[in-house]
Amino acid sequence: MPRPSVILIVFLVCFRFVTPSSTDDTLEALPTTAETVKRKYNNYKKPESKPKPSWSHKDPDAWPVKYPTCGGKQQSPINIHSNSTVRTTYPNFKFHNYGYIDRMALINNGHSAAYNLPAYYPKKKTPHITGGGMDGIYQFAQIHLHWGSDSTKGSEHLVNSKSYPVELHLVHWNVKYGSFAEASKYSYDGLAVLTVFAKVVPEDNKYFHPLVEQLGEIVNNGDETIVKKPISLYDLLPRRISSFYRYFGSVTTPACQELVIWTIFDNPIEISEKQASRVNKFRSLKDEVGDRMVNNFRPPQPVNDRTIFYRSFSVPDIPLSHPPSVNSYSPFSEAYKWSKATFKNYATRFLGIFDHPYPHRYNSCRSRPC
Ligand SMILES: [Zn+2]
Repeated sequence: MPRPSVILIVFLVCFRFVTPSSTDDTLEALPTTAETVKRKYNNYKKPESKPKPSWSHKDPDAWPVKYPTCGGKQQSPINIHSNSTVRTTYPNFKFHNYGYIDRMALINNGHSAAYNLPAYYPKKKTPHITGGGMDGIYQFAQIHLHWGSDSTKGSEHLVNSKSYPVELHLVHWNVKYGSFAEASKYSYDGLAVLTVFAKVVPEDNKYFHPLVEQLGEIVNNGDETIVKKPISLYDLLPRRISSFYRYFGSVTTPACQELVIWTIFDNPIEISEKQASRVNKFRSLKDEVGDRMVNNFRPPQPVNDRTIFYRSFSVPDIPLSHPPSVNSYSPFSEAYKWSKATFKNYATRFLGIFDHPYPHRYNSCRSRPC
């Protein structure tokens, strides 16, 4: 005579196999019949399709259809032909609070990786720039990058048709407009973007490292995280910042507002091969439709009748050979004042205004042009 516990076990095992279940799991396990196919079909819900993005780097020629300004006459980026630039003089940039920034907000916005100044960052510590031939104060808002599918391309701006693997944009807004949003609406001098190219060399660049370390946390569009290590803005600039190109252009993504004073440093920063492979971390991000986020650069746009200035400290004061037409409201009016300055005045100003957060690194610049 079996014991009651054995009978109970046998009963439970048998019950499991003979009792039909109404769960979906069991339904999936049943042999497929016309009836089950029909039931599955009736219950099938079409997955919600992702909304089509309003623009994409894969189709920049289509931007003007929806965003007419993208077809304007003062668009960015451009291919800078150095022989066609107008040499001029500007005062040096002054960088304020441009040292380390803690806890930057890193965001995958579907088009790039963006490092934003933290919300509620103390006003007295807010990084900003003055000088450099621009009127007013421009407050730092964000860094973002552009890169290619490989290191033969990636930058938005070209210099003599040469591209770089990476282009950093340090975005600033004119404080006279009160907010970034207002500054990016209507004004011809609303934004100032510092452009830094990166090239590959054997040596490591430790200042670039915090930018790539946490990219694995923002693989998908909309992901965000906090950057754990502080990022030094100043150390993301090239060692020589005394020479740069300057022109007036636009935001390089829709709506392509024409309100950007562009500064393109002609000396790139350097990142190592190892770090170039870290650039691959950028290439493993996903864009707004889930594809690899690569080649997120806009092709060069027509220069049209714009003047591209070149500021080089090694050429103190060369008269303008092809004076451009600049009217009274142009942001470059200041540039003209400076272009008329004598070298003596220029050097005097230069030696007096250098406000560097790490003066030991640039002491040699104080006694001679660098
Ligand atoms: Zn950009």
